[in-house]
Amino acid sequence: MIENHSIHEFDVHLIVEYFSKTKRQGPGSPEVTCKALNFIDNLSANSHIADIGCGTGGQTMVLAGHTGGKITGVDLFPTFVNLFNDNAKGLNLQKRVQCIVGSMDNLPFNDEELDLIWCEGAIYNIGFEKGLLEWRKFLKKNGFIAVSEASWFTEERPEEIEKFWMDAYPGIDTVANKVTQLQKSGYIPVATFILPDHCWTEHFYDPQGLIQESFLREHAGNKFAEELIAYQRHEEQLYRQYNKYYGYAFYIGKKNDT
Ligand code: SAH
Repeated sequence: MIENHSIHEFDVHLIVEYFSKTKRQGPGSPEVTCKALNFIDNLSANSHIADIGCGTGGQTMVLAGHTGGKITGVDLFPTFVNLFNDNAKGLNLQKRVQCIVGSMDNLPFNDEELDLIWCEGAIYNIGFEKGLLEWRKFLKKNGFIAVSEASWFTEERPEEIEKFWMDAYPGIDTVANKVTQLQKSGYIPVATFILPDHCWTEHFYDPQGLIQESFLREHAGNKFAEELIAYQRHEEQLYRQYNKYYGYAFYIGKKNDT
C-alpha cells in the first residue's frame, strides 16, 4: 500500500533522475514568479540575486528575463546544476546567470552580499524559520527575501491530509503563522499570496504525467521506481482532493534593520 510509504524512504538519486526530466521541480509558474518579483523594488543592473534550491532553473530563467545584474543559483544535486547551466547557456544568459553545487545550510556568500534571496518550493529542506534566520545575514541593508512554501489554508483539516503532511513536511503551518515567523525572523512582511491551482496542475503534475510511463519503462522491474511513481500519483490525487485545505503561498519580506 503506497499510503504506508514515506517520501523520505526513496533513493534520492532516483528522485533527482525523475525530476530532471521536468522543467520545474516544484509547484509554480512564470506568472507567479513575476508577481512575486513585482513586490521587490531595490534591484538594479548591479544587483546580486541568489536562487536557493533552484533545481534546473525554471523560475531562475524567468527572474533573469525580468532583472539585470547577476544571479547565482545554488542546488545540492550536480545533475540539476548541470541542467541549469545548460539552460542558461541555451538562453545566452551564462555570463550573468550561473548555478553552483552547494547546500542551503552552508551557503557560499559573504555577509551583506545579496540584494535578493529567492527560493521557490525548497526552503522546507532546511525548514522555513531556520532558513529565514540563517540567510538573513547574507542580505544587504534593505534587501529582500521571496520564498514559496507549503501552507495550510484552514485552522483544521481532514485527518488523511494532515497525516500525509506531518510525514512529508511537519513544518507546514497556516499562512498567518508563517507570516508571524517571517516577522520574528527579522523581516518586514511585504506581501503574501496563494499560488493558483494551475501552478500545481498544469505546471507540476501534468508534466510529470507525461514522463511517468517512460520512466517506468526505463526502470522496468525496479520496485523503487514503481513505488516512487505510485507515491507521486498518490500525492497528486491528494492535492486534487484536498486543495481547499493547503497549497503553496509566496512570502515576501524586506530585511528589518532596526
Ligand atoms: N526551485 C525549483 C526546485 C524546487 S524542488 C522549482 O521550484 O522548480 C527543491 C530543490 O531543492 C531541488 O532542486 C533539490 O535538489 C534542492 N535541495 C534539496 N536539499 C537542498 C540543500 N540542502 N541545499 C540546496 N538545495 C537543496
